Amino acid sequence: MLSPDAARQRIVAAVEPVAGVETISTAEALGRIAAADARAPIDLPPFRSSAMDGYAVCAADIVAPAPIELTVVGQSAAGHPSSQRVAGQQALRIFTGAMMPAGADAVVLQEDVERIGGDAIVANERPRPGQHVRLRGHDVARGAIIVSRGDLLNAYALAWLTACGVAQVEVVRRVRVAVFATGDELADPGAALGPGQIYDSNRFALLRLMRDLPVAPRDMGRLPDDPDATRRALKDAARDADVIIGSGGVSVGDADFVKAAVEDIGTLDFWRIALKPGKPLAVGKVGGADFFGLPGNPVSTIVTFLLFVVPAILARAGGAPKEPLRVPAKLAQDISHTRGRREYQRGQVVAEDGGLVVVPTGDQGSNRLATFAGANCLIEVPAHRAGLAAGETVQVLMLSTDSGRLL
Ligand code: AMP
Ligand code: MG
Repeated sequence: MLSPDAARQRIVAAVEPVAGVETISTAEALGRIAAADARAPIDLPPFRSSAMDGYAVCAADIVAPAPIELTVVGQSAAGHPSSQRVAGQQALRIFTGAMMPAGADAVVLQEDVERIGGDAIVANERPRPGQHVRLRGHDVARGAIIVSRGDLLNAYALAWLTACGVAQVEVVRRVRVAVFATGDELADPGAALGPGQIYDSNRFALLRLMRDLPVAPRDMGRLPDDPDATRRALKDAARDADVIIGSGGVSVGDADFVKAAVEDIGTLDFWRIALKPGKPLAVGKVGGADFFGLPGNPVSTIVTFLLFVVPAILARAGGAPKEPLRVPAKLAQDISHTRGRREYQRGQVVAEDGGLVVVPTGDQGSNRLATFAGANCLIEVPAHRAGLAAGETVQVLMLSTDSGRLL
């Protein structure tokens, strides 16, 4: 059986990024992946400006020791520059973000100045050249790369592009992801449950977890436990999907037809991982699509999606998936574990005594979505350990409580 780390590496290495590129409005580009480097078309800030409210002066001209009497000769406010030149014992009233006047090289803070009537002020300290002045291009110089090809465009990157006046960006086209669930026992939420039925939550969870990934999802609904229906659905999905995700039907039960169907019409790379939850995970190719058959238990579906499918989707989208963030935390209670497979338990990390403490969220059955209630991390239980003891330091993988995905 592959280790989870080896499986992840193998999956990401086997993925071919999609080729399509499109130019879209920066405002619409959240969560997309840059298809090309974007350079700053201007210096940012575009002019020398004041970092504070105060008085622009020519510090180089002020040689006398404090207190220094100065004459106010004009004003520069944000968006309203002054054409007045400043020299000698002159000062120009200036506000944060306003353009520095010609001749000025420093700003004296408003709170370090006394107005003594008329246009006269007294500065209590001698200004240093450069103080409280933002140089042109000090955030970024014109021509410098602000977004690199393969970067995920988050709100910060988009804000920076916008600050540089970049209204359009070149992004990789969305990855087309087909999602289906398998199982004769499944019913749709809203319908009454028949005997032996349960609601299909996996397809729902997968589609929601993908919501802010750069994907165009295709909901293929539920499939019965039937080999022909499974093959037909896979062929249909492979016609235009880049990634196909199925839930259920990948273990070795009599009703598990997904692996066989993939072997029939595509290729199966591997189907077992030394992981709990999530031992049966079928990974392969159907046509041009990467196929992931996730184990049906709801927690297993989610954990394997987070660990293996998200990086595959990001790699397919031309991005560079990162290793999940592992953070040390002190375990609040014992965890029992059988040696052999790495385990990820759901847990809640809290800040305590200047460090992090983590508590598992109750009985960790892989069917129990309750374990995600209040969870903000996955606790890593190493494969070789026969249990962990309260008080020891463990590694946790942080979850975003907004997107639900790993950080
Ligand atoms: P399977 O992997 O198909 O053997 O399913 C393992 C367990 O997960 C069984 O208890 C299934 O009933 C359950 N299961 C499978 N698919 C889903 C689904 N879409 N939503 C909720 N539970 C599921
Ligand atoms: Mg099943």
